[in-house]
Amino acid sequence: MHKSIISTTKLPNGQQELTLSGGEKLITDMYIPTFGLITNSSYIPSKFLDAKKLVMVDEYLAVRGAKNIWAIGDVSDAEFPQFLPMDRQSKYLAKELVSILRGTPVAPYKAMTTRRAALLNDELDFLLTFVGFCGLQIGKYTATGHYGNTRIPSFIVAYMRKNLFTHMLKGIADGTSF
Ligand SMILES: Cc1cc2nc3c(=O)[nH]c(=O)nc-3n(C[C@H](O)[C@H](O)[C@H](O)COP(=O)(O)OP(=O)(O)OC[C@H]3O[C@@H](n4cnc5c(N)ncnc54)[C@H](O)[C@@H]3O)c2cc1C
Repeated sequence: MHKSIISTTKLPNGQQELTLSGGEKLITDMYIPTFGLITNSSYIPSKFLDAKKLVMVDEYLAVRGAKNIWAIGDVSDAEFPQFLPMDRQSKYLAKELVSILRGTPVAPYKAMTTRRAALLNDELDFLLTFVGFCGLQIGKYTATGHYGNTRIPSFIVAYMRKNLFTHMLKGIADGTSF
């Protein structure tokens, strides 16, 4: 069963005490958190957050209960916290805001997966997060990844991650990507 580390405490002797999602404690000499992103939503009023401290948004990515405020990316409850949904959401919102300002109709956002707020528990959340897309570099030239249930060949993942998407930066910065 999947378990997450939900908190860590440094002990007086320098060791780390890890608390797991099931409540168990582990004492380690060293703890290096290399995954498990915790989004900072601490500055957002709690009435806009769900139990996982994600901003609750509607099908237009607008913050539920707020007026003229939108939330995209990891901090929103719309999709899983990865680059691809964040990229799709930002492109959608850029167009949506222009439509709103022009007074033209806006189509709802098409999420790639079930919204996280609807998930029943951590295990299902973990599963659905990784049912999307995942690509991992292994060494300098090889990689592994999957899209849904389909494994992506190593060289494709390595090629996609070659520049860590920095080649897209210019279009994002100057607006031509939208
Ligand atoms: C180690 C690691 C590896 C990852 N690898 C992959 C991968 O291979 N593929 C993939 O698809 N995704 C990956 N991700 C996830 C991906 O980075 C995120 O999904 C993506 O960055 C989300 O973008 P975002 O703009 O929503 O949030 P972020 O990129 O986290 O940006 C949020 C920004 O807000 C800033 N901020 C927070 N609080 C405040 C505040 N109070 N005031 C002002 N600024 C604030 C933060 O400093 C940050 O710069 C990885 C994440 C991590 C941590």
